[in-house]
Amino acid sequence: MHTSQQHHWQTLWINIHLATMTDGASSYGTIEQGALAISDGKIVWLGKEQDLPAFDHHQLQVIDGQGQWMTPGFIDCHTHLVYGGNRANEFEMRLQGKSYQEISQAGGGIVSTVKATRAASEAQLLASALTRLTALHLEGVTTLEVKSGYGLNTTTEIKMLKVAGQLAASLPVTIKRTFLGAHALPIEFKDKPDDYIDLVCDEMMPKIAEQQLADTVDVFCEGIGFDIKQTERVFAAAKSNGLAIKVHAEQLSNLGGTELAAKYQALSSDHLEFLSVDGVKAMADADMTAVLLPGAFYFLRETQLPPIDALRKQGVAIAIATDVNPGSSPICSLQLMLNMACTLFKLTPTEAIAGVTCHGAKALGLSQTKGQLKVGFDADLACWDIKQPAELCYQFGLNPLSSLFKAGSKVLPRI
Ligand SMILES: [Zn+2]
Repeated sequence: MHTSQQHHWQTLWINIHLATMTDGASSYGTIEQGALAISDGKIVWLGKEQDLPAFDHHQLQVIDGQGQWMTPGFIDCHTHLVYGGNRANEFEMRLQGKSYQEISQAGGGIVSTVKATRAASEAQLLASALTRLTALHLEGVTTLEVKSGYGLNTTTEIKMLKVAGQLAASLPVTIKRTFLGAHALPIEFKDKPDDYIDLVCDEMMPKIAEQQLADTVDVFCEGIGFDIKQTERVFAAAKSNGLAIKVHAEQLSNLGGTELAAKYQALSSDHLEFLSVDGVKAMADADMTAVLLPGAFYFLRETQLPPIDALRKQGVAIAIATDVNPGSSPICSLQLMLNMACTLFKLTPTEAIAGVTCHGAKALGLSQTKGQLKVGFDADLACWDIKQPAELCYQFGLNPLSSLFKAGSKVLPRI
């Protein structure tokens, strides 16, 4: 193939092992002793190096991969990266034995994050989010989802989403934005959750859709969040505003949020510790992605495991994400999530890595362009100084990322 197209090759890797992470492939979709060519920010050829067609070296940059491994750039498909303040105080109080009530009386909990986020300027929110994004990016993240949900009023929800958009101008990372107005009940609406849902559906969402500040809507469907009726109202409003749907569901109890989301053709349901077998089947039928968040499971010392075997049996794609947030997962490391997905959830390394590549892409509706090494896909590429892909899950703290490319351009290391 491709003799006529080779003139357009811009960069060619040789002597590199490829973990293509092709959806459905076993064992990382490995191509050992591979080669990969890119042009105009896309992958245009990949295969065994010995099968490379004759190519013209003229004006072609050839990179010797030195026997390292290449994966798709990592995708963190569930974060609350933009927020004001932090909750270290509350963390410390809890470990000193203070009760939930005492912490709440001292202004702790999500209320404190909402207060700090409302008070922060766009520049302050951007600076703190950028610190967190940089940590993720240095570990190979090239695509990241960011949710709103700490404003809980129209002005601040919009402010958060604007800041999320600005992140993409600061670092070479694709940012997908999700409107999570239905994250918690703001104190102004105490005992009036339905009135707050009116505000979310009738005021916030149309404005956000019109200004194209988000393309997806999320709801925290939980006893401490919103009930199934309120969740459905938000889903219906998302549909009528032409926005995709996600849900935080079955984290602490089973309210049936996942099955409801399946009826609305949601992209994903996230957390899922208490998901029932029927819920798993509904996800499979609707081709939804299960987003598992081992960081929150760890930080909250949960003991109920998500139904991994049932998800496997039904062929539901499993994604892994950091859930970066100040309350339940203040952890800015997707590499640590790979380790935790294996140690806490017993995913295999190939499943865990699929969770931050092809399945992470699927959870964001990007499965046709990102998350796989495949001809026609975006050349978001991570090179790793490892002997086998399992090292990415097995070890933690060494960061074996050797170089990172975004849409074909080298972005790390910065020289
Ligand atoms: Zn979350």
